[in-house]
Amino acid sequence: MDEEDAASDLKTVSPGRSLLSSAMVGSANRGRVLQTLFDLGPTSRAELARLAGVNRTTISGIVQPLLDQQVLVEGKPIRPSESGGKPARPLWFSPEARPICGMLLMPDAVHTCLVTLAGTISAEESEPFPVERPRIADVERAIELCTARTLAAARREPLGIGVAVGGMVDTDRRAVIAVNLAPVLNGFELGDMLTRRFGLPALLDHHPRALLVGDRWFGKGRGLQTFAAVYTGEVLGGALYLGGHLYRGQSGAGGELGHTFVQVDGDICSCGRRGCWETIATLGWLRRQAREIGIDAPDDIHSRRLVELARDGAPGAEDLLDRYARNVAVGIANLQQTVAPNFYVLHGDVVGGGEIMAKAIARHVRALVPSRSGGEISFAIGETEDRAALLGAAGLVLSELLQFPL
Ligand SMILES: [Zn+2]
Repeated sequence: MDEEDAASDLKTVSPGRSLLSSAMVGSANRGRVLQTLFDLGPTSRAELARLAGVNRTTISGIVQPLLDQQVLVEGKPIRPSESGGKPARPLWFSPEARPICGMLLMPDAVHTCLVTLAGTISAEESEPFPVERPRIADVERAIELCTARTLAAARREPLGIGVAVGGMVDTDRRAVIAVNLAPVLNGFELGDMLTRRFGLPALLDHHPRALLVGDRWFGKGRGLQTFAAVYTGEVLGGALYLGGHLYRGQSGAGGELGHTFVQVDGDICSCGRRGCWETIATLGWLRRQAREIGIDAPDDIHSRRLVELARDGAPGAEDLLDRYARNVAVGIANLQQTVAPNFYVLHGDVVGGGEIMAKAIARHVRALVPSRSGGEISFAIGETEDRAALLGAAGLVLSELLQFPL
């Protein structure tokens, strides 16, 4: 790669949380223009200037260096309007810009990929962790191997590594606090390890929060100021984007939605407490119920199969689908009553259930929350599981680069 170009491009100033170079995001205007562009999609210079609230001279001062550095490209001219005038060329993020390395750390494996600034995924790799009593050195080795393979595919040096962690994290220390299903990862200072090993800035966040960041940059939350992401599967989690800010809580402790209470004296949860939302709205619950009502192969039940079984008229399937949707809806209703995000992107297992599952959840939420005029609650289905997490992980780095106020 071109060293001089890289230096003037998105140079990193420290291996810690800050990825910012004065060259790229030195001005608030620049951040605002790039955010506006991201939210709108390909847009002409004139339109971008108008919508970002900057004048023509400012927009040229911002856009030209980014074109020179191949961060942005100009598309084919759009036909001029009836009144004549120069044909406008829409600006968008260049596929030649330096990519971001996205990583998903799960209890049993690591996944990595490259993500372009336009949200295209490539160079996907994964590496399992040893099943039998893994040591942290084994885990580190697997992460190194996987990351090195992905980075080797990059034509230009990546801007940084963003990690979605399927467990509790300390976003300030860039460390894993605890992963219930993989205690070997507890206390793992992954951010430091990645920076030391690969010389790239690295950022970590909780998996559901990364999903929301991915939605905000590349998905259904693009351009929105307030919404929530809810993930269900083996575990349950979520994240909130409120008034233009990702709500993390102290050191990233917020968003443990799975462990909010929905049932006093309910079932025991993986966290050791009773009655958490996670005990009634995850796959563990669904499998137990499927077994109880005699559904075939209850251990292989998930939303997609449940929807198919209900469609085929399997005994009890329609009722189970409705109860599962209601259990997911219960926690969403609480969230709606507490902070009213009004727009929810559903992730994880329920994505497989498609529109039928989303509609069932929406119906129950609406029944559980008093209606108010102008307070329409809507739902969208997120990307498929790994893709959503990897885009989100990359989005963490992007947010930092664009000085997006998360
Ligand atoms: Zn719990």
